[in-house]
Amino acid sequence: MSDVIRNVLVVNAGSSSLKFMLFDMASEQMLAKGQVERIGIGNALFTFSTEGFAEKQSPCEAPDHAAAIRLACDALTDPAKGGCLKSFADIDAVGHRIVHGGEKYSQPVKLDEHALTEIEKLSPLAPLHNPGALQGIRGCEQVLPGVPHVAVFDTAFHQTMPEESYLYALPRELHDKLGVRKYGFHGTSHRFVTERAAEVLGKPLDQVNLVTCHLGNGSSITAVKGGKCFDTSMGMTPLAGVVMGTRSGDVDPAIAFYLMKNGYSAEDVDTLFNKQGGVCALGGSSDMRDICAACEKGDHNAQVALARLVHSYAMYVGGYVALLGHTDAIILTGGIGENSWETRQAFLKVLSGLGVTLDAETNRHVRGVEATISGKDSAIPVIVIPTNEELMIARETFTLLSK
Ligand code: ADP
Repeated sequence: MSDVIRNVLVVNAGSSSLKFMLFDMASEQMLAKGQVERIGIGNALFTFSTEGFAEKQSPCEAPDHAAAIRLACDALTDPAKGGCLKSFADIDAVGHRIVHGGEKYSQPVKLDEHALTEIEKLSPLAPLHNPGALQGIRGCEQVLPGVPHVAVFDTAFHQTMPEESYLYALPRELHDKLGVRKYGFHGTSHRFVTERAAEVLGKPLDQVNLVTCHLGNGSSITAVKGGKCFDTSMGMTPLAGVVMGTRSGDVDPAIAFYLMKNGYSAEDVDTLFNKQGGVCALGGSSDMRDICAACEKGDHNAQVALARLVHSYAMYVGGYVALLGHTDAIILTGGIGENSWETRQAFLKVLSGLGVTLDAETNRHVRGVEATISGKDSAIPVIVIPTNEELMIARETFTLLSK
């Protein structure tokens, strides 16, 4: 490895998939990206693209995560595929996305055996995510030995929450013995848009108060006070908070006991709340493009789904604006926040009680770009800022290793 970190590979591994992106940190340009799907389950698929080479998908052999990362590195060093590296040695560092860092990690960490053991211990808190990420790290270490590997945690940004934000009103021993508390997720995205918002607003990061709304398939809303997380809508798990694609968001927890007394198992309730809820349950699709198209046609269920969705967003924004005292801006990001003008329009309408107004014409044309969509007279500016979690992971990896 050279002393200067130039090329950072960002890896987001799940139990059967591995997504990657390569960044040149001098320019922060993305050089290549791709993914391997169906790792270890047969009929694996490899997708790869670079600036000059359009996305290509092909069948591949990927019995494990090491094979998947080898496919990625082979493509990155193959000029015929558009790969721009001469050899694997040109990868200076790898940044891994890890969903759960528990209370242990409020910052990225350079991976060694101790850190891997600690992340493994956190697996009960994220049983669907941390084990897959660990497989990804082990695979990458086999293929890229001697390269520094860094873990960047989705929960880290939220570790600045005070006790009154993160404690549930339950006996303290549940927190102390079992880790029952609010952790929050999408932290890398909330951090990215917070840093960008400070630049856009021309304020020092430690003086900026925001409500950042990451609205996608999974959604969370965060109150940012002085550049740090003060509270966030997701909880101990990513089920809590606002209504999402297939997740219910906040419901009366007693519904779970009621259903279980009526023949539902714990797994049934889990599936119901996580996979069969949300706008999908109310409006018939988890995709806001379908919901908004159905609303346009006068579909009552879709209209209720949209109304319920933005109602849940507004409940958090209103609460957080009250808690923050002063709010410099409301930031919208994620697939819905960046692209769905209809959802944004409905959302800003229900925020009118806060003095928020909409520039309807601008809003209609904003898709995947940075723009202020509130009216000039809005009490709080509302700004769309496209998120870039992979670049944030690359930056955090670069910063940690450059110290
Ligand atoms: P994830 O949480 O899986 O990362 P995304 O942030 O990519 O999800 O958001 C996905 C959602 O964004 C889709 O389900 C869809 O509802 C919405 N979305 C994406 N593109 C558009 C678009 N052009 N118009 C409206 N909604 C969109």
